[in-house]
Parts: sequence; structure tokens; C-alpha cells
Amino acid sequence: MALLSTTDFPHTIKKNDSFSHGRIDLHSHTHCSDGSLSPQSLIDRAVNYQISVLAITDHDTIAGFDIAQEYILEKNIPIKLLSGIEISTAWQGFEIHIVGLNVDVKHNALQQLIVNQQQAREERAISIGEKLAKCGFPNAYNDAKKLAAKGSITRAHFAKVLFQQGHVGTMQKAFDQYLGKKGRNTQRAYVKPNWCTIEQAIEAMHAAGGSAVMAHPIRYDLTAKWLRRLIVHFKEYMGDGLEVVLPQMNPQQRQIMLNYCLEYNLHASMGSDFHHPNKWSDLGRNLTLPDGAKPIWALWN
Ligand code: AMP
Ligand code: MN
Ligand code: MN
Ligand code: MN
Repeated sequence: MALLSTTDFPHTIKKNDSFSHGRIDLHSHTHCSDGSLSPQSLIDRAVNYQISVLAITDHDTIAGFDIAQEYILEKNIPIKLLSGIEISTAWQGFEIHIVGLNVDVKHNALQQLIVNQQQAREERAISIGEKLAKCGFPNAYNDAKKLAAKGSITRAHFAKVLFQQGHVGTMQKAFDQYLGKKGRNTQRAYVKPNWCTIEQAIEAMHAAGGSAVMAHPIRYDLTAKWLRRLIVHFKEYMGDGLEVVLPQMNPQQRQIMLNYCLEYNLHASMGSDFHHPNKWSDLGRNLTLPDGAKPIWALWN
């Protein structure tokens, strides 16, 4: 493999880069967190799906970016890779995901935030392992750690272990019975994580020259009142945009998100949140911003 200096890698989208051709997908995962594909396989799949701009947004890590970018340069693949990350934050007892886009992956503030988040992940994983041991699964931590390899360890790894070992019928059941939290209702192996705040995530993304987007606002099970509070808080701390288009969203939900964007002067982003090939969603599928939305990439032009 050709060895390239990291300074050869374009970290950011530059002024006048064209976004007018092909599909755009600004939310995806690799095996550097809880996705199943390597960064290289994700790039191959994105090219097959005619994607021209892709952001890899793994949970609390940017490890996939350099690997994917090196592969793109080595094979001369016609795709624009955007740096990205999905940071887990804590807000009012909810876990809110903030996607950072077009960040300088080498920036100190971002690197430091990642170190802290990885430590929170590791500590939580150990506690989850202890709780699962009490439920009769003594090796869950070691098995999940093995699955995560050098990547971010997530609850999805624990869910996969429980599923693969036949303790639950589906990964969703692992969340429903052991790992999940629904409102105040926590399951047997739920552990409160020690994530950073929304403002810390936004601040690090901005320090690294990027934009902060609230990931999948519809997926937090919030009432309309709480969702508005969340968006007000996000805007107050200089958040840049909302994910307005996701594959699972219906037109009405999309319209609601667009209205929030217009009301709070936020930009709009879109992404598949691709983790692994499945029937219901795939990279770049059905992603088009509605009329009237200000695209997040307008901030970089
Ligand atoms: P973590 O960030 O470690 O809390 O892991 C959460 C990840 O597990 C999410 O990013 C999803 O990819 C995955 N997941 C799958 N089903 C669920 C569920 N029912 N609740 C929460 N996370 C889920
Ligand atoms: Mn995930
Ligand atoms: Mn998420
Ligand atoms: Mn995601």
C-alpha cells in the first residue's frame, strides 16, 4: 500500500467544491464503531450506489476517515469523502447524538473530546459487562470487546453478542430486555453513560472548523414540547443544523423538521445512518432535501 503523508489528505470541503452531481449521504458507520463494513468496503458500496459525497460519522471516533481517504487516493476512486463524527451527548437525562461534519480530524479540541468519550465508553462497557454477568452472561464484556476490536465499543456490540449466543431472538430484543432505556424505564443492564454535553460537542466541532448537526431528531421519543426545548438549547449553543431527511422519516415528519429549521434559522442535513446492508435502508437511498431547506453544505461554499 502506498504510504501517504497525512498532510496530503484534504480534511475539509473547500470553497467552490461542487455538490451538484450524484447523491449525498452525510451519515454513515463503519466497523470503526458499530457498522459492519470496513471503511474500504463502505467506499466501494457508496460508489456502487452513485454517491458523490459521503461522510463517515462513526460513534465518537474519526478513525475511519484516514483509512477511507487513503483507499480513495490509492485507487483513484471518484468520490468526495467528508470527515465526520457522531458524538453521544447527555441532555436532561436523554442521550442526544450530534454529528460533526467537515471537521479537521487532527484538531486538538476534537482529539481531546474523543479521548474523553472513549474513556466514558470503556467505563460504561465494563459496568454493562458486570450487570450482564449478574444476568447469567459472564463473558459478555470480553466477547463485546473482541467484536469491537480496536473500534468504539457500543451497546450494539453487546446486543450482537447476546443475539449471536442465542440469549435473545433479535438485536432489538437485547435492547428491550437488557441494554435499553425507555423514558424512566431502564432495562437490567442499562448503565447511565458519562457523555459530554451538547455544548461541549458543538464547541469542539466548531474549534475543528466543522459544522454541528443534530442527528435524527425524531428518534429520541420526545414530546413536541421537549423536542422544541432541545432544538432551542442546540441553537442557543450555536448548533448549525438538523437532520431533516432520514430514510425512516415520513413526509409529515420531514415537514416538521423543515419548519424547525426555518423557525430557528438552522441548516438542513441528510443521511442514511447506514450501519449494515439491510432491506429497509441503504446508502444514499431516498435522500433529497425538501424545497426551502438551506443545505448544511451551503456553509462550506
Ligand atoms: P451506544 O452509542 O453505545 O449507546 O449504542 C447505541 C447504538 O446501538 C446506536 O447507535 C444504534 O446503532 C444501536 N441500536 C440498535 N437498536 C437500538 C435501540 N433499540 N436503542 C438504542 N440503540 C440501538
Ligand atoms: Mn450506531
Ligand atoms: Mn445516532
Ligand atoms: Mn449514526
